[in-house]
Amino acid sequence: MVALLYTLLSFIRDEIEEKEKEEYYQLMHKFNRLNFRTNNGSTLLHLAVVPNTFPNEYYIERNCKFPSLSAVQVLIECGGIDVNALDFNRNTPLHLLAIHSCGVLNDETLTTIKLIVKKLNEGGCHWDCINSAGKTAIECTSSGFIQKFIANQMTLNLKCIAAKIVKKSKINYYQSLSKTLCDFTELH
Ligand SMILES: [Zn+2]
Repeated sequence: MVALLYTLLSFIRDEIEEKEKEEYYQLMHKFNRLNFRTNNGSTLLHLAVVPNTFPNEYYIERNCKFPSLSAVQVLIECGGIDVNALDFNRNTPLHLLAIHSCGVLNDETLTTIKLIVKKLNEGGCHWDCINSAGKTAIECTSSGFIQKFIANQMTLNLKCIAAKIVKKSKINYYQSLSKTLCDFTELH
């Protein structure tokens, strides 16, 4: 899975022609739709935002540093990836990004994290997803800088507010809502 991410993303910096780029994007779209998972439930997008996705080849190491804005960008632009996918701890990619932003001191990485947050936002990520510890992404970081940045980007829509109220009320919504709406409510 990690090897797959490296191999696919090693194309990012290559000078490729428009036609090849189109084929590459189509291929990535297919991979995204296959929804590959690691043994802890991470998707390619989860892997792209965590620093412990270590490269194992010189060429890739030179081109792909994680968290990787380019990787996130390509994965989202190709389509077919769920930006709110949950790993086995019910962490979204945004949760993992927040968790790993604790203690980051260098400006370059902080800028990358900010740009990835923006990209995830453009891709339709939910700021208010709750992981298995009952925490939103913003509650998963001790970095005041990242907390403030995420808070500034946050917009809650009516659907999210309604889902939170239903979830909090502890009513048995599984009997009256569709599977899609139940899954959506579960996120909150
Ligand atoms: Zn939401």
